[in-house]
Amino acid sequence: MYGFESGINIKSASEIAIMREAGRLNRMTLEAVKAAIAPGVTTGELNEVAESFQRAHGVYSPFKNYDPGNGVPFPGSICTSINEVLVHGIPGDRKLKEGDIISVDCGTVYQGFVGDAAFTVGVGEISAKAQHLIDVTAKALEIATSLMVIGNRSGDVGAAIEEYVESEGYFCTHTYTGHGVGREMHEDPQLTNYGKRGHGFLLREGMTIAIEPMVLVGTRQTRVLRDRWTVVSKNGALTAHQENTIAVTKNGPLVLTSL
Ligand code: MG
Ligand code: MG
Repeated sequence: MYGFESGINIKSASEIAIMREAGRLNRMTLEAVKAAIAPGVTTGELNEVAESFQRAHGVYSPFKNYDPGNGVPFPGSICTSINEVLVHGIPGDRKLKEGDIISVDCGTVYQGFVGDAAFTVGVGEISAKAQHLIDVTAKALEIATSLMVIGNRSGDVGAAIEEYVESEGYFCTHTYTGHGVGREMHEDPQLTNYGKRGHGFLLREGMTIAIEPMVLVGTRQTRVLRDRWTVVSKNGALTAHQENTIAVTKNGPLVLTSL
């Protein structure tokens, strides 16, 4: 695995300090969007909240016009993924309804470095089942974060995510993954939401990685809609997503995308 590992960009302490600020601004953007979530609000309006917040703070989202080679540059600054939409929902005219759950994923570029994070919340009153799914996804991220320490392997983290999620009766996608973050939003290595303890890449000081549990009900299978972005659960059941960018430091895991 040496060749793969050698593609990982290790960050210096001063680069991590910049990424911490990128992450803080990213979380502030997400908090502004969260405060605007209510029945009747469109996902396009949420996108405008993010864009105006970022403009006011002199930063921008790397999502806008992001082109992974699928022929359709992403049109929004955030992803808004409602109910069965797991990730990569495009903001637009869809109105939030009481009882929906929505994942908002956002990136922020500050001084050339990226912060990447996402949350899932309910719109108004939601069912106990939907809340449980959200809570499990958040706890999976918490468990994974605690394992982002020097000397652990990526398989330790992925296995812990999947074992916990499955112990609660849900499934993790095997198709979409967490990833390195730095000057690029997506850098090596990938961090899967499954794995084998003692396997995978070694966590080393200065790695900065987005962990993003993506959790489904009744299946791990997904499909992509004709817009080439929107990823939905194959069975149409609810999904949830949480993400933080974490630095591996000698003092333990440092959540870069917190306030
Ligand atoms: Mg990400
Ligand atoms: Mg993200």
